[in-house]
Amino acid sequence: MSFLSNLRKIFGGASKSRGGAGGGSSFGGDDANTHLIYAKCRRCGEPLLGRINMMNEPSQEDDDTWVVRKTLSGSGKNYCFQTVEVTLQFDRQKKNVLSAEAIGGALISAEEYAALLAAQQAAAAAAASAAAEDTPQTKEA
Ligand SMILES: [Zn+2]
Repeated sequence: MSFLSNLRKIFGGASKSRGGAGGGSSFGGDDANTHLIYAKCRRCGEPLLGRINMMNEPSQEDDDTWVVRKTLSGSGKNYCFQTVEVTLQFDRQKKNVLSAEAIGGALISAEEYAALLAAQQAAAAAAASAAAEDTPQTKEA
C-alpha cells in the first residue's frame, strides 16, 4: 500500500511546476475546509462569492492534484444572468492554488470583492431611498 505512495512522493514532486497561480495567494476561508472564490461578472461587474468544501468537492487527478469546477451565478438583480465558471487546481495537499481560471468573468482578490460589494450596496441603498421617497426630484445627472 505504501509502496505506491512512496513512489509518488519520489517521482511526483517535480512533475508539476506550473509557476504562479492567477495571483490568488490571498484567498481566505471561513475555516480550514472552506476555500472561498471571489469573482466578478464580466457583464455587469457584480461581485460573486463561491465556497468550495475542500473535503468533498475537489476531485483528484491522475497526478494527485485536485481540481474543482464551480459555477457562480449572480443574484439577477442586475438583470444579468451570466454565469462565471471557475476552475481551480490545487496541489496534492489542497493547500496551494496551482492554477485558476474563470470563464465569463474574472477572479478577484478578497479586497476587491469587498470593495465591489460595498460600492454595490451603497448604490442599492441610494436607489432604494430614492425610490422610497418617490418624490420627483430634479435629476441632474
Ligand atoms: Zn452579471
